[in-house]
Amino acid sequence: MVPDVAAQDTPAVRRPALSPSRAGDFKQCPLLYRFRAIDKLPETPSAAQVRGTVVHAVLEQLYGLPRAERLPERARALLAPTWERLLSEQPELAELFGRDAGWLDSAGGLLAGYFELEDPRRFDPEACELLVETELPSGVLLRGYIDRLDVAPTGEIRVVDYKTGTAPREIGEAKALFQMKFYALALWRLRGVVPRQLRLMYLADRQSLAYTPDEAELARFERTLEAIWQAVLRAGKTGDFRPSRSRLCDWCSHQAHCPEFGGTPPAYPGWPEPSAGEESLVDRVD
Ligand code: SF4
Repeated sequence: MVPDVAAQDTPAVRRPALSPSRAGDFKQCPLLYRFRAIDKLPETPSAAQVRGTVVHAVLEQLYGLPRAERLPERARALLAPTWERLLSEQPELAELFGRDAGWLDSAGGLLAGYFELEDPRRFDPEACELLVETELPSGVLLRGYIDRLDVAPTGEIRVVDYKTGTAPREIGEAKALFQMKFYALALWRLRGVVPRQLRLMYLADRQSLAYTPDEAELARFERTLEAIWQAVLRAGKTGDFRPSRSRLCDWCSHQAHCPEFGGTPPAYPGWPEPSAGEESLVDRVD
């Protein structure tokens, strides 16, 4: 297990926090935020999300191996046991793929895509699946998980995120950039250093995208997050989470409860304390 080096001391009672996934939900559609963060309506993960979860877990394990062993065959060999472990924790996932491990070939394709993008024998990340949590001066608590954090001998920080999903790039990219700025801001506030690079690795496309944030931009982004959180709190008091229909509704699991699609939301359960904004494993994969 990689040490949680960037997280501040975890408070005994976890306050509601904003995660990149939930902030993105609220921006996209306040009602979607409510369904996920407050009503906590169940969602069945898609096959692509489960595959992504397995691939992320394999890459984390890969970096736990000595450098010389970080080879494509070794990564491929980690797939089946990782899937079995996930299945033992969540047996219901078997319905998505059956117990036939043949689907792992497609996960193997994503791993092959990873090895085309970089050679993991050349460096050691500082951390994988790193929890970052920090409170902004305004009191907004940020919480999220970073796929991988690389720190150069010069102290320069690189934030890496693996993209394993199949959503169209034009939709996914804006969301990914929002998520990366979120992590960059959290790290800047935690360590006093603006990350040198935010790197998105699209394993299916075998392409990566690098982005360099600057302080002025992150300061603006901080104000954006504060505004989102204030809007969440206002809606939370009244229960007025409005639906916002868009192309992204095609990926929403809650159309049956959504007035835009003829559904009725459940009665508003009230503002939840203390865990609004939690991310599930599946949230962290897209
Ligand atoms: S279907 Fe669309 S409008 Fe309705 S809750 Fe989902 S994202 Fe929002």
